[in-house]
Amino acid sequence: MNKIKNLSQKEIQKIYEMEKIIQSNRHTYPIDQIISEARKEKALDIIVKTILSQNTSDKLRDIAFSNLKKEFQDLRHILKEKPSKIQKLIKICGLPRVKTKRLKTSLKVILKMFPDPEEMRKEPEEKLFYFLSSIHGIGPKSASVIMAFLGFDAFPVDTHVSRIIKRLGIADGSRERIFKLVSPHIKDKIVSHLFLINHGRNICKAQKPKCEICIFRKICNFYQKK
Ligand code: SF4
Repeated sequence: MNKIKNLSQKEIQKIYEMEKIIQSNRHTYPIDQIISEARKEKALDIIVKTILSQNTSDKLRDIAFSNLKKEFQDLRHILKEKPSKIQKLIKICGLPRVKTKRLKTSLKVILKMFPDPEEMRKEPEEKLFYFLSSIHGIGPKSASVIMAFLGFDAFPVDTHVSRIIKRLGIADGSRERIFKLVSPHIKDKIVSHLFLINHGRNICKAQKPKCEICIFRKICNFYQKK
């Protein structure tokens, strides 16, 4: 088994600097509003939305989710519905067959363990993360997104977070590796996660990052090498 090397003191220091910059600029994006709205959502809605979010935009995910909600007031009923009908309802957000299978499998496992899914919020953090991430179709990244929106202190690493962490020169490798290395050092996990996602969408884009107006310039390896 490959052992992951820990971060150096310099890399850890850079995480602290990054978080300091994030905290001073957190109002650039509507982070507090996103957190308060997400925390009002039902646990089952959070799970279904997270699965629909995989490999798509928030906009398309929201359309697919609203199609499901119009059809099923109680999302538990997805379990009894024919896959072809679910696929039709969520087609807009891509991978309808895969996502239908993932929705059905996840809901089955979760509802068996938690007939009232709101009870998940009372679970010990590590236990819940292990449970969710081991469900086929959820995995560690979606598990940490679900945990974050259920109110746990989690730092999910998606494509935007991973790209910025790499460009800053904090850590490299797969998203899973970055999650394992960086997450333990992040103090305000949900705020940093949401800030980096928004920053990745608006400023540190995959193609043509807008470095000239970026708040991370001083600590960014990518910018300094340019
Ligand atoms: S300076 Fe450029 S590369 Fe570095 S984080 Fe900002 S936008 Fe991304």
